[in-house]
Amino acid sequence: MSKPKVHHYEYDVVIVGAGGAGMRAAIEAGPHAKTAVISKLFPTRSHTGAAQGGMAAALGNVEEDSWEWHTFDTVKGGDYLVDQDAAEILAKESVQAVIDLENMGLPFNRTPDGKIDQRRFGGHTRDHGKAPVRRSCYAADRTGHMILQTLYQNCVKLGIEFYNEFYVLDLVMTKVDGEERPSAVVAYELATGELHVFQGKSIIFATGGFGKIFKTTSNAHTLTGDGVGIIWRKGLPLEDMEFYQFHPTGLAGLGILLSEAARGEGGILRNSTGERFMERYAPTIKDLAPRDMVARAMANEVREGRGAGPNKDYVLLDLTHLPPEVIDEKLPDITEFARTYLGVEPYTEPVPVFPTAHYAMGGIPTNVQAEVLRDNDTVVPGLYAAGECACVSVHGANRLGTNSLLDINVFGKRAGAAAVEYAKTAKHVPVPANAADEVISMIEKVRKSKGTEKVAVLRKELQDTMDKNAQVYRTEESLNEALDKIAELRERYENISVQDKGQRFNTDLLEAIELGFLLDLAEVLALTSRERRESRGAHLREDFLARDDEKFMVHSMAYLTDKPAKKPGDNIKVGWKPVIVTNYQPMERKY
Ligand SMILES: Cc1cc2nc3c(=O)[nH]c(=O)nc-3n(C[C@H](O)[C@H](O)[C@H](O)COP(=O)(O)OP(=O)(O)OC[C@H]3O[C@@H](n4cnc5c(N)ncnc54)[C@H](O)[C@@H]3O)c2cc1C
Repeated sequence: MSKPKVHHYEYDVVIVGAGGAGMRAAIEAGPHAKTAVISKLFPTRSHTGAAQGGMAAALGNVEEDSWEWHTFDTVKGGDYLVDQDAAEILAKESVQAVIDLENMGLPFNRTPDGKIDQRRFGGHTRDHGKAPVRRSCYAADRTGHMILQTLYQNCVKLGIEFYNEFYVLDLVMTKVDGEERPSAVVAYELATGELHVFQGKSIIFATGGFGKIFKTTSNAHTLTGDGVGIIWRKGLPLEDMEFYQFHPTGLAGLGILLSEAARGEGGILRNSTGERFMERYAPTIKDLAPRDMVARAMANEVREGRGAGPNKDYVLLDLTHLPPEVIDEKLPDITEFARTYLGVEPYTEPVPVFPTAHYAMGGIPTNVQAEVLRDNDTVVPGLYAAGECACVSVHGANRLGTNSLLDINVFGKRAGAAAVEYAKTAKHVPVPANAADEVISMIEKVRKSKGTEKVAVLRKELQDTMDKNAQVYRTEESLNEALDKIAELRERYENISVQDKGQRFNTDLLEAIELGFLLDLAEVLALTSRERRESRGAHLREDFLARDDEKFMVHSMAYLTDKPAKKPGDNIKVGWKPVIVTNYQPMERKY
């Protein structure tokens, strides 16, 4: 088979990913530097468009609020693993982030006197936990859709160059003065199977999350963590990978998300006896406790036999006391999901719900300028990451609802600005002539393989083991079981083949490559989860139930080594990084 055609381009700023973070960065970079955005999806199909509930900002439009309260809530919500300098930036810059979007044309819901309306969300409180506060700006339950459309329209207005349905599969690092520096990314074009090398002075990763390592998930099929996986394979560290959020209210058995906005608007969780059980777990803010606490409480109700339904394996989200007009106006999409997918009428019947894999708190470590780190504090010049693929860390051990749409806007903007600043004086790092070779051998290996294993089978087995062993509850034993299974799947992955051997629109081939990233990230998640022998935020170890601040108030930093793995996970080194504390010493977390 002949080698695929390879095209070359030169840009100042290359952005990988056209979700909220990537496009917000592009709006900042585009007017000042030659900028390309490369995306495996058409931009408006990115997962940001599925976000429902809202975006946090202490505007104080409907009741008193302050960025300091928002910072505190973010730190406490993240179970004190949040870097507090970053959380301060997130909260302080939130107001401008909302105004930026409004100026770009985003149609937020309004109060009767014309201000941007705000609603309640889990863990967002007035005056350090006294009562829930209305902090989330929203556009019905389609806030992410509106953000994504607004950002895309503004990118088009600015003439930003997009390369859509281009899959970035490698980051090229070139040795300069004894140091590995990013010089380009290599992309596979879906329509043709041709390869494209994009040289950039600054390269920004904004590739989103990796919820597809789990079976029950709110995440789109495309969230396979490619960007995080590419960085990992370069030997760069990943931070806090054990912290994966399970959103309390996925449609039972399906995982499709019902936004926390349902509880923000007054929805109540009940067990099989009809009891509002969150009163027992979080007496002050009840159903609006942070997600880790609610997910844990729900799983516990089911374990103790108070689950609803024929198999007693879910709880109920009750909206029946809300006036139908409120449901129609504020929660139209998610109530339609309940009707369509479960045949339940939310006006009159409670909706079956159970936790669903939702959000990666961990990812590519960066500083507050969105610069990627090669260890605890050394920057990789010219390399940036923002959005769900990055770990700044503003979410610590558990993200508060509506803080991610905020994160992608604040740190997407910062990444774009920093990338432009760097590109102003930096020179292009030379790209080797054989820059595309690694990708060529990766795809040719899959294409030519006559193996007997099927991608869909392996993916399903991976997702099953992660749901069983690394979900809300974890133990040393369950995590070792996951690691053993992943090692087995890795071996079998060497023996996969795809049916489609063609060049055009070969999604078969790409799914095989995406599965490789899923296997890598699942392994890092299982290993760091095993090494963190405490419970904190979304990470619940049944064999180490207490939070251990003395030993574990630190971020994990995992590195891929060349050490041959005698036991599964042996080839991964886990280091630790101090948490940045400015104002808030860790306290017991009560709500
Ligand atoms: C159902 C749902 C509801 C949510 N609701 C809320 C909410 O109400 N409030 C809130 O704050 N958060 C919410 N979240 C979380 C939030 O939406 C996401 O964390 C955030 O939108 C991620 O944005 P992003 O720009 O980082 O990534 P994404 O929007 O996922 O974009 C990733 C981009 O990377 C590109 N990409 C990926 N891999 C490659 C590759 N190999 N090559 C080229 N391009 C690639 C994709 O094409 C895409 O353009 C929700 C999430 C889900 C799943």
